[in-house]
Amino acid sequence: MATVKEQKFEVLPIKRDHYSFIINGERVEGVAGETFSTYNPANGEVIATVARATVEDAELAVRAARESFDKGKWRRTAAGKRARILNKIAGIMRSRFQELVELEVLDSGKSISAAQGQVMQAIEDFEFYASAIVSHRGSVNPMPGAFFNYTQKEPVGVCAQIIPWNYPLMMAAWKVAPALAAGCSIVLKPASLTPLTAIVLTEICHEAGVPAGVVNIVPGAGAAVGNYLVEHDLVDKVAFTGSTPIGKNIMARASTTLKRVTLELGGKSPNLVFEDADLDAAVNGALFGIFYNTGQSCEARSRLYIQESIYDAFMEKFIAKTKQLQLGNPLDQKTHVGAIISKEQLDTIDTYVQSAVEAGATVVTGGKKAVVPGYENGYWYEPTIITDVTHDMKVVQEEIFGPVVVVMPFKGEKEAIQLANDTIYGLGSSVWTKDHARATRVANEIRAGIVMINSPFSAFPGTPFGGYKQSGFGRELSIETLDLYTETKSVLSYYGPKPLNPFGL
Ligand code: NAD
Repeated sequence: MATVKEQKFEVLPIKRDHYSFIINGERVEGVAGETFSTYNPANGEVIATVARATVEDAELAVRAARESFDKGKWRRTAAGKRARILNKIAGIMRSRFQELVELEVLDSGKSISAAQGQVMQAIEDFEFYASAIVSHRGSVNPMPGAFFNYTQKEPVGVCAQIIPWNYPLMMAAWKVAPALAAGCSIVLKPASLTPLTAIVLTEICHEAGVPAGVVNIVPGAGAAVGNYLVEHDLVDKVAFTGSTPIGKNIMARASTTLKRVTLELGGKSPNLVFEDADLDAAVNGALFGIFYNTGQSCEARSRLYIQESIYDAFMEKFIAKTKQLQLGNPLDQKTHVGAIISKEQLDTIDTYVQSAVEAGATVVTGGKKAVVPGYENGYWYEPTIITDVTHDMKVVQEEIFGPVVVVMPFKGEKEAIQLANDTIYGLGSSVWTKDHARATRVANEIRAGIVMINSPFSAFPGTPFGGYKQSGFGRELSIETLDLYTETKSVLSYYGPKPLNPFGL
């Protein structure tokens, strides 16, 4: 039986001034020897320098991953032993929880309360897949005569995993944990805006005993490094999380080598509040649904539909609570809404809001860049509510990816469903009602991968997360994910007494 020999990997402080990247189990500075800086979006200050990966490094990373996969040390390791190492990764993350949280807050500008939940979920992802992989198995199938057939699950191979900036560590965990559990080898490309916790996660994988070459990370430009990975013929699968336009581009380019592709893309998720809902719960849920993570969530409930009989009562409470949201030091536990990731994203959000105003919509609260005392050089936007919209407006149809919600009244269930389904996206959705039958009817009719009933929370390890329509395809966080990191091999054997002679010659 193959074993995993634990290797020594130098443990460095999680927060430091410079981050190398990792290829074939070694910290490297990159072929070109270039670096880039990462910034704290809350105050615009440099956090650290990062070695920049180029396509030459991507080539080395793919070759390391390919060699590790083909030699088979990890993929042939018994599932139970892989599970033990996944649990060890989770254990190291638990022991360094606070440091990981603080680094995530610095690199992304998100509030500490958001980062705490996300780092904890990243840990639980590894624990979930550690237990899931040991029962992920094939089948024995009925066969005629003296034939025997079984199937087995085999790792899909070398996976290029490309992730966005909005949940830097959690997205890395959603990708790395199932791929490692399945026995794949990985080249991970984090977003250039937020590479730090993904680099640290890769280090932790090595510290926990994942063999050299199995997890490689290349922090570099999407257009160069990401592109190169997608087209590389030694890569078997691309798992991408990011925007819908880039996802379409990746799908087209991955098709030239018929790679397996999973795409977790954008959203414009609806939040339906019926007149029989618990009003306070629905208000609090709507608040969290859009303003959590500063609205920079793929499943942000950015379209809010309220049944007209409760519209005024709902809005009064919703507006009042939105005005109470605290922007400020992201490391302060009392801060609700953190910074926007970059100046570019801040300008994009403001352009969307101004376009709505020009088209005749009303900004009820917010609607401009925020000035946060002590954080004047950071990127902040006021939590924003927009009403008087029509369904064809850009703010209703397009993903803004910021703390901006559009609100519309609806008359009844049929109209609510029709409005909910009227976008190109189909990722998340929420339904608020005390009527169980209505909740089930509406859940059945919404064309989205996730429906939350009387809850704003959408992602728990074990529950499938993914989209319909142009929100992509594939599922993360769940048992189904393991099927997407494995191939099913069918093995047929004949055990009859006479040799087979189909041509009778
Ligand atoms: P993005 O598409 O700009 O970038 C995502 C990643 O792709 C980054 O690592 C980037 O460097 C890389 N990339 C860019 N161009 C590339 C190319 N040509 N080839 C290969 N890789 C390339 O997205 P973003 O702005 O980082 O993240 C926000 C988007 O991510 C939003 O649309 C959001 O909805 C989506 N998202 C979806 C989910 C989900 O589960 N569905 C989760 C989180 C974020």
